[in-house]
Amino acid sequence: MTPARMPPDRAAADRVTAGPPPAADARPKRRLHVITWGCQMNVYDSTRMQDVLAPLGYAPVARPEDADMVILNTCHIRENASEKVFSELGRLRPIKQARPDVIFAVAGCVAQAEGREIVARAPFVDIVMGPQTYHRLPEMVARAARAAGAVIETEFPAESKFDHLPDSAAPAISAFLTIQEGCDKFCSFCVVPYTRGAEASRPMPAVLAEARQLVAGGAREIVLLGQNVNAWHGDDGHGHARGLGRLIRELASIPGLLRIRYTTSHPRDMDDDLIAAHRDVPALVPFLHLPVQSGSDRVLAAMNRGHTADHYRRLVERLRGARPDLALSTDIIAGHPGETEADHRATLALILDIGFAQAFSFKYSPRPGTPAAVAPAPVAEVEKDRRLAEIQALLRQQQGDFNRACTGKVVRVLFTGTGRHPGQVAGRSPWLQPVHMTGPASLIGTEAAVRIVEGHPNSLAAEPLPQPEELACA
Ligand code: SF4
Repeated sequence: MTPARMPPDRAAADRVTAGPPPAADARPKRRLHVITWGCQMNVYDSTRMQDVLAPLGYAPVARPEDADMVILNTCHIRENASEKVFSELGRLRPIKQARPDVIFAVAGCVAQAEGREIVARAPFVDIVMGPQTYHRLPEMVARAARAAGAVIETEFPAESKFDHLPDSAAPAISAFLTIQEGCDKFCSFCVVPYTRGAEASRPMPAVLAEARQLVAGGAREIVLLGQNVNAWHGDDGHGHARGLGRLIRELASIPGLLRIRYTTSHPRDMDDDLIAAHRDVPALVPFLHLPVQSGSDRVLAAMNRGHTADHYRRLVERLRGARPDLALSTDIIAGHPGETEADHRATLALILDIGFAQAFSFKYSPRPGTPAAVAPAPVAEVEKDRRLAEIQALLRQQQGDFNRACTGKVVRVLFTGTGRHPGQVAGRSPWLQPVHMTGPASLIGTEAAVRIVEGHPNSLAAEPLPQPEELACA
């Protein structure tokens, strides 16, 4: 999972709406501004919060200064995550001072972890809600308007929020769909099991219904989300627990759905049927995000990852056996407590063996309440920086090589929007590479074969293929 702050306008821009604008109605016009940090699941949750609030008349605005309600959807993955939230609240406080009726809400994993502490340090916050309770937003807004104090909802409710969420108002062409939440792995460095709770899988009928609704609304690609998405085991509606491989096969039968992706996976949950789905299901794209974190068995054990480096290598061999053009991305942590130079070299050796098309790499940062935060033999910051730089140089090299090797190839691209330059359209290759090309806006929302003319470090440039009639004339 890649921590970052998603500026709303860019997040919104990625959500090129495919459906018609909502009909004008008599609802009081209220303006909503959502700030999203963190992983795709937070992006999905922010979109769903907008859907939950739309019936109250809330419509997204680009600036917090113009909003009647501001939601900070937070991430707890990296160091000082909480402090970042408090400094942002400090930056936004003048809005509340100027307009006391503006509602401020803090959501996501920092809200889940900090709860009342948020109101203690920022008394102007009206609502604090965890990732499992935002379906109750309409009621929380009503209570916040009446209540003398802040509304705090950070327990793990008995009911599933998914059973109370409205249809997605304007699905993106590449739409996120959360199917699994929480985690039972308890990696030594991670707060997710404490902020998102135990692993829970949505039932297959509910997932398929939401997928059909997204495709009917214009989605052409669905990205299945979960902290441990390949641990998904949902009831098929007839009392049988099915795995992710089976769900993907069911999704692939939805007319109009061109592509299926899933993220984030754990190596221990890649079962035979899921590997076979990579062989059998053409709509399942040949790209997999499979975090490994370290190449050292000693560090993997200290991280409580539950597998060895060779297990990971063999798993990748089996995946590439099933789908030879499969490309991989991963997560790597440099400088976990106890990591030695030899462990670091083992990580570099694994990266060389696998060859990653993309990757996210970080230096270890202690998270309060996690075992690693109190583990012996912390690695010095300067050493962490040196190791991270070496890892990132190698990963950059691999990504560049992978992109350059695409030059001259004919690749199918799903176009999701306009490019940075006039007359340009942009989309994603099957390997999730950003692709830009001069072409008509009518391509947006379609998948088309194009020729890659150049592989850049972080993207591909393409040109349209000559049309049959052009070939006939050639
Ligand atoms: S698998 Fe590990 S890193 Fe991933 S969410 Fe679970 S505890 Fe965190």
